[in-house]
This record gives sequence, C-alpha cells and structure tokens, in this order.
Amino acid sequence: MRGAKQWKQLKLDVTAQEAPVDNFLTASGTFTDGDLRLNQRGLRLISEETQSSQSPNTEDVELLREDLEVIKVIGRGSGGTVQLVRHKGQGTFYALKGIQMCIQETVRKQIVQELKINKASQCPHVVVCYHSFYHNGVISLVLEYMDRGSLADVLKQVQTILEPYLAVVCKQVLKGLVYLHHERHVIHRDIKPSNLLVNHKGEVKITDFGVSAVLANSMAQRNTFVGTYNYMAPERISGSSYDCKSDIWSLGLVILECAIGHFPYTSTEQEGSLSFYDLLEAIVDRPPPSAPADQFSPEFCSFISACIQKDPKERLSSLELLCHPFIQKFEDKDIDLAILVASLNPPVNLDL
Ligand code: ATP
Ligand code: MG
Repeated sequence: MRGAKQWKQLKLDVTAQEAPVDNFLTASGTFTDGDLRLNQRGLRLISEETQSSQSPNTEDVELLREDLEVIKVIGRGSGGTVQLVRHKGQGTFYALKGIQMCIQETVRKQIVQELKINKASQCPHVVVCYHSFYHNGVISLVLEYMDRGSLADVLKQVQTILEPYLAVVCKQVLKGLVYLHHERHVIHRDIKPSNLLVNHKGEVKITDFGVSAVLANSMAQRNTFVGTYNYMAPERISGSSYDCKSDIWSLGLVILECAIGHFPYTSTEQEGSLSFYDLLEAIVDRPPPSAPADQFSPEFCSFISACIQKDPKERLSSLELLCHPFIQKFEDKDIDLAILVASLNPPVNLDL
C-alpha cells in the first residue's frame, strides 16, 4: 500500500500555487491584468479592443447582468453554482455559472490565455461562453444552455448506453477534442461525465475548459481538492509531464463507464468503490481497465484499449480516434441521439 508520503509529488502538483494577489482588483471593482479587463459590465481583452480592424464577436453583443432573470439552480460544482437564466428581452436561456473569485498570480495569467481561447472558440462541440462578468468577488460566465444536462445526468437515468449511441457521443466529443488539441493546442484537463453536456437535439459538447476550469481548479486546490481524480491519467497522478493524451485517457474511462454502467476501477470485493489512495494507486500501478470482450464488439474493445493505455505515447490522438473502426462502424446508420435523450426526463422542466 502506497503511503501518503509517496503521493507528495501529486500534492505538490495540485497545490503549487502562489499566495493570493489582490492588487489587480481596482476600487471600482474592475479586474485587470495585462490585456484582460473584467467588471460588472463584462469582459474585454484590451489588446483586441485596440485592433479595430477585427470583426465583432460575441463579447461585443451587449449582454447585461440585470437583463438576466434567474429561473432556477441547475447544478452545483466544486467552484460554485450553475443557474438557468433567461434574457428578459430575447427570451433566450443561458446557463450562468458563478465562481467565487480567489485568483492567484499564476492563475490569472492562465485566465488571460483561456479567455482568449473562449472568445475565439468556434466549434459546435465546445460549449460557448457568451460573456463574463465580475461582481462582488464572483466571476459569472454566461454559457450556452444545454437543456439535457450532462452525461452524468443521463447515466443516472439509463445506467448504461448502448454501443451505437456511444459511438455517436464519442464522435462528437472527439470532434471537440480535435478542435481543442489540434486547432487551439490546449489540454482540457478535466474530461469527465459532468463536463460533457447534452441538448435536446442530441448534440454533445465539451464544457469547463478555459476560465471556469482554471478558476475551479485554483479554488479547489487552495486547501483541499474537492474535484475528482477518477478520470485523471496515470502520468498526471504521478506528477510526470503530460499533454493532450491525458484527455484521451479520461475519455476512454468515461466511455467505458457509460458502457459497463459503473466507474471502471473497483475494489476486488463486490465491485465496491476504492478509497482515495487505493484509487490513485490502482490508476498508477494496476494494468489499465478494458472492455469485457464477451460483452462488447471487437471494435469497441479496441477503441477503449486505444484510449486507456498507461503509456501516453501508446494512446491514439483525438484525430486518429475519429477514424477508428468503432466510430466508423455506425457512421452511415443514422443513429439519432435526440431520440435517446427525448426518452429521458429533462433536468429542468421548461414549461414555465
Ligand atoms: P466540478 O465542479 O467538480 O467540476 P461539475 O462539473 O459537476 O463538478 P459544474 O461545472 O459547476 O460542476 O456544473 C454543475 C452541473 O451544472 C453540471 O453537472 C451540469 O449538470 C450543470 N451544467 C453546467 N453547465 C451547464 C450548461 N452550460 N448547461 C446546462 N447545464 C449545465
Ligand atoms: Mg463542470
């Protein structure tokens, strides 16, 4: 059994943050850092403001906090609360994610980067962040509302997802990952069922990369980490360097969990859940989980094994996985995820 001391590297990895710095908050409640300016009226990247030749983007659309009426709380995460809100004028629904500000020097540098990515994101498989506000110590992100909640919500209702539907889910998540990895050159770092959102059209989108992930992580890491290590790749747990392939490991675990109906790492006795340190030890030291060949197609088993390899170099990239036989197998079968989600209870009833 690995002792707490041996996980020192991990602890360093997740707690290595500098002391909080507050001097970037002006008396007027504006948060500035380099080219980032965030206040009650919203977010601006000053460098982009000065580049007047650039075409207008979503940040330029006037979206005021007072125009958003709160309908109800739809979720709570480690960083804060997610509310369903409606724009009083447009009638459009958004998800408003509020995160308590507690930003440290290194983190705010990351935020500048991440906001640029968020602003520039143009991928149908990544949740859009339309606007951000800063007010009274809380950063609020106005996100595209995904009316069928997360894959975690779906799983609670269906227990398992059949291979044809999983191929459709996978393909969409992979397209989002191809965009993040190969176009934006960013690692998501927190692929898990609650960060894969679904809507009534059967669209699946990745959320919580960028600002909210950075903020939530910095919050969670200050004292006790309250997020989950469940989907974290072995190289991250052991404190080694990591790259986009760590997201592929996480995706493989999520998809395997959807197929078998429970988190793939279990204790040997009665498939119970592992304690925190046992889980970390299992991820780092045990052979990786795989899909049982007697219950799943060879294509599915091969896909899972192409993702869940302990050596990141052995894992396929998001681009390579898009061409995997498991994804291609159902390509011309016209599988409609909207039909599956329509049969489930929506997280929020919008017959208001
Ligand atoms: P953690 O904070 O540990 O990462 P989490 O991902 O569940 O966990 P949040 O990101 O705060 O925490 O999200 C909480 C819940 O809110 C999600 O599980 C999801 O059900 C819901 N949610 C988040 N964003 C949206 C959105 N854009 N549209 C609809 N529902 C959302
Ligand atoms: Mg989340």
